[in-house]
Amino acid sequence: MDFSTLLQLDLTNRSVFLRLDLNVPLIDGVIQDDTRIRAALPTIQYILERTHKLVIASHLGRPKGVVTSAYSLEPIGRRLSELLHRDVLLVHDYAEEPIDSLLSQLGKNQLILLENLRFHPEETAGSEPFAKNLMKGIHLYVNDAFGTLHRAHSSIYEAALEVPRENRAIGFLIEKEIAALSQLTTDVRRPYTLIMGGSKVEDKIGVMLHLLEHCNRLLIGGAMAYTFLEIQGFPIGNSFVEREKRALCQSILDMAQARKVEICLPIDHVCGKSLDPETPHQVVDGIAIPAGWMGLDIGPKTIRLFESYIINSSTVFWNGPMGVFEWPTFAKGSLKVAEAVGRCMGFTVVGGGDSVSAVNQAHMAARIRHVSTGGGASLAYLEGSPLPGLRVLEKRADHGG
Ligand code: AMP
Repeated sequence: MDFSTLLQLDLTNRSVFLRLDLNVPLIDGVIQDDTRIRAALPTIQYILERTHKLVIASHLGRPKGVVTSAYSLEPIGRRLSELLHRDVLLVHDYAEEPIDSLLSQLGKNQLILLENLRFHPEETAGSEPFAKNLMKGIHLYVNDAFGTLHRAHSSIYEAALEVPRENRAIGFLIEKEIAALSQLTTDVRRPYTLIMGGSKVEDKIGVMLHLLEHCNRLLIGGAMAYTFLEIQGFPIGNSFVEREKRALCQSILDMAQARKVEICLPIDHVCGKSLDPETPHQVVDGIAIPAGWMGLDIGPKTIRLFESYIINSSTVFWNGPMGVFEWPTFAKGSLKVAEAVGRCMGFTVVGGGDSVSAVNQAHMAARIRHVSTGGGASLAYLEGSPLPGLRVLEKRADHGG
């Protein structure tokens, strides 16, 4: 796949629509973490050095098509204004009144921020008329919202179609994501360890199947490990299990065997009596879990085993926590895996909200080669699914538009 990048666009005095992911955590209108805003600055600044006619658009939360003050982009506009030393004009009624006239009167020290795209049901419905309004008077379309590329929303897909293909480009963040993620499937360096955790086998099955073609070892932790252990005949007590996903798990085991990929499942566990942060707990030494207990984290022997594999890898991809890491009693497995990935000298990539937060808690983010910002989008990219937001930005297309 080949995309125009920002560097290939002639931005001089042209009007630009920039789709960003400014979906930051907010409590009572106060930004709790502005990482996403700061991460967007290089793309914004690059554009502003060449043209002041900039329209920024983003979603925030899930207001489900209803104007909801808690999901207003106002605090984000204020933060952007502080960081960029520019006036940020928050525009509300762009769905009815296209912004082209505003754009023509825009001062040199001003930029336009559209109020939350998801206040309009047309956005998630992928509406074409909505996109036409967004793009009225716009010459260039730039997308730097990696986390939303798997959604065919109006601002992601239809809006790009409003300008000729040569006027569309990816921003710096997407460029970085693609460069890192594509290294997990092309010219990979071995040993290559894939670490999968979390609870939903279904969300990760596509990635496992796809990456099994490239990796040497698959380490499985988290709740999903128990479905794998159960189909191998081990007692799993009351552990979380997805019985209807047994066939999918079996297909992973079969494919791993066919491709000579080593599968590592937990060999001991930290167990609790129930899914409760205060539950009585114990380390269960051995694969089998006694009746009445549930596995809620990988145990110390599994941690050591996983660490030894991870540290000696030349390529690592990790998605999904090793246990209920939100509760301190069951967080150790995920934090130790985060540390091991941080200590690994190979090419390391972590994707997915929970694994990324484990990496941050373990203060390892700076030591990991790439921390992906888009959970669902990075999984979709790695399983080889077409991402509508990317396809529409390809230089040459095999589809309409
Ligand atoms: P996912 O969204 O599929 O990546 O799953 C993440 C969730 O899985 C987190 O909220 C974890 O608390 C949960 N989880 C991880 N390990 C276990 C486990 N052994 N039992 C129950 N839930 C778990």
